[in-house]
Amino acid sequence: MQLLKDYILKNGRVVTDGLLKVDGFLNHQIDIGLFQNIGREFYNHFKNDNITKILTIEASGIGIACITAQYFDVPVLFAKKNSVKTQGENVYTADIASFTHGKNYSIRVSKDYLSPSDRILIIDDFLANGEAIQGLVNIAKQAGATVAGAAVVIEKGFQGGGDKLRAEGLNLLSLAIIESMDTSGKITFR
Ligand code: 5GP
Repeated sequence: MQLLKDYILKNGRVVTDGLLKVDGFLNHQIDIGLFQNIGREFYNHFKNDNITKILTIEASGIGIACITAQYFDVPVLFAKKNSVKTQGENVYTADIASFTHGKNYSIRVSKDYLSPSDRILIIDDFLANGEAIQGLVNIAKQAGATVAGAAVVIEKGFQGGGDKLRAEGLNLLSLAIIESMDTSGKITFR
């Protein structure tokens, strides 16, 4: 998606360890016009897949998922990263190794909101090693739901998570795939 690539080149900053900072439009301040374009692209790709629910992960996935859900007219369900007493034991869980925080954590989704009749579209902001998406696929499968596909805004292709998920048969849409980047500011797309 050319508009997104332009945003990345203009506003993105490569910090250490292959980490891209896009706080100006994606992860901190949110550019709603851009998000509407992203949601429309996701919708155009998956509109014939009978999506019943969008599944994402807190926090950065929620905004993109909500705007996308307006096109599909389906609910958004987000996995929680912290255990909350109101959820009790009635949850599906998956373990994830965090790329940005360098530690492992569990995500939880209530069993009340996923069923075998669901056709899930997974959404996230970034795809690096693929752990977050894999965790969400895992949770959907525990519920017996069908994963129709996954859509991410930025894939860092050089980390290999996306290629691994595609090889496993996931219908994965990435709107910008970064092939290489360095702290001098050079970013190239696949
Ligand atoms: P993965 O699980 O695919 O290794 O990493 C994806 C998750 O890590 C995303 O949910 C995102 O929050 C975070 N992430 C991975 N790489 C980056 C990055 O370069 N920049 C930012 N802002 N977040 C990232």
